[in-house]
Amino acid sequence: MEIYLDNCSTTKPRKEVIDEMLDALQNHYGNPSSLHRLGLNAEKRIEHSRRIIADALKVKPEEIYFTSGATESNNIAINSIIDKYSRFGKHIITTAIEHPSVYNVIKKLEERGYDVTYLKVDENGIISLDELANSIREDTILISIMQVNNEIGSIQPTWKVKDIIKEKKSKAVLHVDGVQAFGKIPIKLKNWEIDAFSISGHKLHGPKGIGVLYVDSNLKLNPIIYGGGQERGFRSGTENVPGIIGLGKAVEIMNKNFEKEQNHVRDLKLYFIDRLQEIDKIRINSLDKYSSPYILNVSFEHVRGEVLLHYLEKKGIYVSTTSACSSKSHKESRVLKELGLTDLQIEGAIRFCFSYEITKEDIDYTVDVLKDSVKEIRQVTMR
Ligand code: PMP
Repeated sequence: MEIYLDNCSTTKPRKEVIDEMLDALQNHYGNPSSLHRLGLNAEKRIEHSRRIIADALKVKPEEIYFTSGATESNNIAINSIIDKYSRFGKHIITTAIEHPSVYNVIKKLEERGYDVTYLKVDENGIISLDELANSIREDTILISIMQVNNEIGSIQPTWKVKDIIKEKKSKAVLHVDGVQAFGKIPIKLKNWEIDAFSISGHKLHGPKGIGVLYVDSNLKLNPIIYGGGQERGFRSGTENVPGIIGLGKAVEIMNKNFEKEQNHVRDLKLYFIDRLQEIDKIRINSLDKYSSPYILNVSFEHVRGEVLLHYLEKKGIYVSTTSACSSKSHKESRVLKELGLTDLQIEGAIRFCFSYEITKEDIDYTVDVLKDSVKEIRQVTMR
């Protein structure tokens, strides 16, 4: 029995992705920069993937840059925007609940003298657009807001941000961390006028170690990584050909199945929330109205999340307490704290992240195991 409910940490690559990658490793091993046939073949395959991803995002292929993952995409986006625009000002706006690959980059910039506004979130994990509007200053150069939070799934109204920037007659550039959003909720980069957008391959049933940074062609950023001039000079380094091919395949399938899989997962989430009412002293931290259908964070009071995680694991159910990136550090979740949860609610939080492979029977089994486990743990903790 294996019920994998840790799809925010990473997803299982689809079989078609693995097949394509094996073929790439065996047959497309040429360096895409080489002028001979093997090189040209590899290059063609890269451009094919680039087109699939550009089509899925409804952008131009030349606006897609391959990176080693969203951590790199976020680092490059923020640092190259800062590099180009710092002559206009030193103010950055972001949220208090960003992933460390944004949060820690901006913290470093703060140490270097940049002024940062961290937007607060409400009890559902959503920023206030009024607070955003009031925070924009003449010297604001970057606004970086995640589309979907990786711990609680809250969806930020990034579609409204560019209008606010324009109303304020601001020059600020808008970067969006789209890792938990791409393939999971509808995204309209051009309509929403998002300038830069980060994606990671392994969150959408593709391979690890491959990511994308979309950059609007009007932005004309300078590179911060120098070398052989790959990716049109913006991100040097020999391309991860199998990774790029695998990601292209994952996006192609994801795009085809988007609606069907989203509806399936939304039904599962609603059903799960419904059945969770059978357990008392819980808080749903990812209400359907405000969050991704793929993410359900729940606090079980008087239960340590880590203990519950291992109870579930013994029964073949895989979950996380907070994000995979911070769970090993045993630090209290910064995101849950920002929601205003009590210590008991933070301590007992578990994140369930769904995929197209999960069934209603899996949810029934999970809730049954949860009921027994929570009861058993509370018998000790509440004695
Ligand atoms: N941003 C978000 C919202 C994420 O969930 C993650 C992955 N946990 C990342 C960025 C970083 O992605 P990667 O680890 O693939 O570089």
